[in-house]
Amino acid sequence: MGGMNRPLPSAVKMFRRALVLKCPLCGSRRTFIRRWMLRYDRCRTCGIRWHREHGFELGPIALNIVITFFTLGVSMVIAFVATAPDFPVLALTIGFVVGAIVVPLVAFPFTNTLWMAFDLLSNKPDEAELAEAAAAVAVAA
Ligand SMILES: [Zn+2]
Repeated sequence: MGGMNRPLPSAVKMFRRALVLKCPLCGSRRTFIRRWMLRYDRCRTCGIRWHREHGFELGPIALNIVITFFTLGVSMVIAFVATAPDFPVLALTIGFVVGAIVVPLVAFPFTNTLWMAFDLLSNKPDEAELAEAAAAVAVAA
């Protein structure tokens, strides 16, 4: 597909796509997400490489930690306010431990697409990267 110097989708569009687990760049559902917790090397539609630079995987991990801590923090405040002054300590403890395990698992693929959107905006793909991505998809098809 031609289109040299194809402009990136807008930031709003890329984040909206990321929030529903679509590829931020091409908008396809056939992306690099594989069975929730795994990844393909590239988006299966546009071929953009997921691991765009050294240490790329640290971004989604940091994002996941922020999302998890934020969710737990807000939940704790709500739970403590709602149950004061007789805190059900065991129930709250179990609830927060379960939350600390479940939230990062649920958030995992979203952090991958969100970080990709963020990275594409802050570190725009050049012609070589886009050409390499297109070539990779062409070979696989
Ligand atoms: Zn794509």
